Amino acid sequence: MSEAGQGGKEKTIFGKEKNPTSIVPRKLSLESPLKFRCHPGVRCFTACCGGIKIVLTPYDILQLTKRLGIPAHEFLHRYTTPTYLENTDMPGVIIKLREEDNKCPFVTPEGCTVYTDRPTACRYYPVGMADFHEGGTRDKDGNEETKEEEKFFFLVREEHCKGFEEDKQWTIGEWRADQGVDVRDEMNKEWLRLVMRRKSFGGQATLSEQAKRMFFMASTDIATFRKFVFESSFLDTYEIDEETIASIKEDDVQLMLFSFKYLAATLFGARVLKIREEKIKAKIAEIKKRQDESVLQSIREYEELKAEMDGPKGGK
Ligand code: SF4
Ligand code: SF4
Repeated sequence: MSEAGQGGKEKTIFGKEKNPTSIVPRKLSLESPLKFRCHPGVRCFTACCGGIKIVLTPYDILQLTKRLGIPAHEFLHRYTTPTYLENTDMPGVIIKLREEDNKCPFVTPEGCTVYTDRPTACRYYPVGMADFHEGGTRDKDGNEETKEEEKFFFLVREEHCKGFEEDKQWTIGEWRADQGVDVRDEMNKEWLRLVMRRKSFGGQATLSEQAKRMFFMASTDIATFRKFVFESSFLDTYEIDEETIASIKEDDVQLMLFSFKYLAATLFGARVLKIREEKIKAKIAEIKKRQDESVLQSIREYEELKAEMDGPKGGK
């Protein structure tokens, strides 16, 4: 995509187009040819930056807040609307369109004002990817594995998009590299897996309110997540090596990637973070104490009941 923007009324980062009628039913590979160009000279210039639903990934939010020089909470308030991701109970955000024209707040007649930091969904169009983060196998730590051969691409071809009438020839791989999609895929991968794993559960189980809040906070506000890591009992609870601590202290991207591990551990029990031995022992002792107390309580209740039952007999 050029600085014109991206395209599609319902773009998705989750591998399934929301407008199935616009999908060209053909599996493509990185080597498949693509004839497409988007630039300010196309008749439909910026037409695709309105009436759309753009889900933001944690990396999108990180890059956009840096670009705009505002904290995440301000960004979320000004530019986003809450949503649930992929029909799950996982909370996320989409770009809030302008009330006056139902367009993205970052689009002007000259194109996208945040172009080099535009969201992942804006970069994908018109090449969708299906779908490495769905239904994968699990490794020994309970994490989903990706089989490269399961990836394929497809074209989203919509009436209003005149980019297909242009002469520029690419391969799908060249197009994706030009759009910076590969980097985004790498950054979003683990987070998307969390959502897809949740989705695979269907409506069978619901996340607790606390888990939802944690997922939302870690996904949207890295500064608050940093406070959580460094200003709570987090580091007393988890065994994190010094190198990791140093890197997540300073580097937002590393902290974001770390947050995905934390979410995988807390939401799905993935064995990617180690709880300190003494914490486990303390927890076991606490559970045992609770059990002991409840056993003692039951004995007391039994004794009381027995005494009550014995009482009248003894009086006769
Ligand atoms: S972020 Fe940029 S490319 Fe994406 S919809 Fe908005 S204006 Fe268009
Ligand atoms: S060519 Fe397609 S992607 Fe480019 S502005 Fe037009 S509709 Fe959007």
